[in-house]
Amino acid sequence: MEALSKNFFLLLSNSSVLDKMAKKWGPRLGADKIVGGESFDQAIPLIQQLNSQGLHVTVDHLGEYVNSESEARERAEECISTIQAIHNHQLNTQLSLKLTSLGLDISHELVHENMTRILEAAKQYDVVVTIDMEDSSRTEKTLELYKHFKKDYDNLGTVIQSYLFRSNQDVEELSDYNAYLRLVKGAYKESGKVAFTEKSMVDDNLKKLIAKHLLNGNYTAIASHDEAMIDFTKDFVEKNNIPKDQFEFQMLYGMRNQMQLDLLQEGYKVRVYLPYGEDWYGYFMRRLAERPANIAFAVKGLFSK
Ligand code: FAD
Repeated sequence: MEALSKNFFLLLSNSSVLDKMAKKWGPRLGADKIVGGESFDQAIPLIQQLNSQGLHVTVDHLGEYVNSESEARERAEECISTIQAIHNHQLNTQLSLKLTSLGLDISHELVHENMTRILEAAKQYDVVVTIDMEDSSRTEKTLELYKHFKKDYDNLGTVIQSYLFRSNQDVEELSDYNAYLRLVKGAYKESGKVAFTEKSMVDDNLKKLIAKHLLNGNYTAIASHDEAMIDFTKDFVEKNNIPKDQFEFQMLYGMRNQMQLDLLQEGYKVRVYLPYGEDWYGYFMRRLAERPANIAFAVKGLFSK
């Protein structure tokens, strides 16, 4: 049943018709509980509030799979103005972005040009940028670009997904780049040819990747709402004398709020991933796929006045 509903929502996440309809229904689906507003300006008070609680933030302008050059350039502009606003408002937040919103599927030149402009601004204003990881057909290109840019821009992170067979090798190679990695289980629908399909294997692999990247001496973000993963990390860092400034926990905005605060209380660094923008549909559907319990507030939102 769980696998069925996961597949159902992952399938819906790719529907452009439903995407258009969802924009009309807007926050009634409950998206406002996990999205920080439709514009960066709307997200600012929320970031300030999270910061005042001691939480670090990474913001993401929602939207992916852009297939027009002008839109990809607009997305890059949005990233640059967000970086400037982070600086102007003295916000404690990083920027997360998706390469398919910047032209990855259009041309190498375009995504390269857009990323260079964004990373120049990030360097100027000292803002860390993380490249989110998308589906496996884009992993190779994403990591190639990451390695290319990491040489010139140190404030750059990316994401590795434990469901992919290749990830162990990728983490090993990225260690040569002193990579700032966010380690996750993975949110896309992948075939058994490239990814573990059994949850226990995905979980075990995430633990291996966390251990490997930390022992290789690299900064590691453990991005999971899974208590078992968090307990594993706490135990591992203690046994291996890994200092608290070599890792952080990351969770999505609106998920496990109390756990975020508890971790803070225990002295750990916690970062909240806060998406904003009008294109919340695909993000929202992937969250439903991960945790069907989230359906409750979506259905409630649909039928409330
Ligand atoms: P799951 O395996 O989904 O859940 C394990 C257990 O945790 C559940 O059984 C339940 O007991 C508990 N749990 C989980 N969620 C909740 C909740 N909301 N409330 C209460 N209990 C809960 N994926 C990508 O593919 N690319 C990315 O770039 C990417 N970036 C991410 C950034 C961040 C900060 C985070 C947190 C996730 C990101 N993801 C990304 C998504 C990730 O890959 C997983 O799909 C997602 O985090 C679900 O896996 P999980 O480890 O949280 O736990």
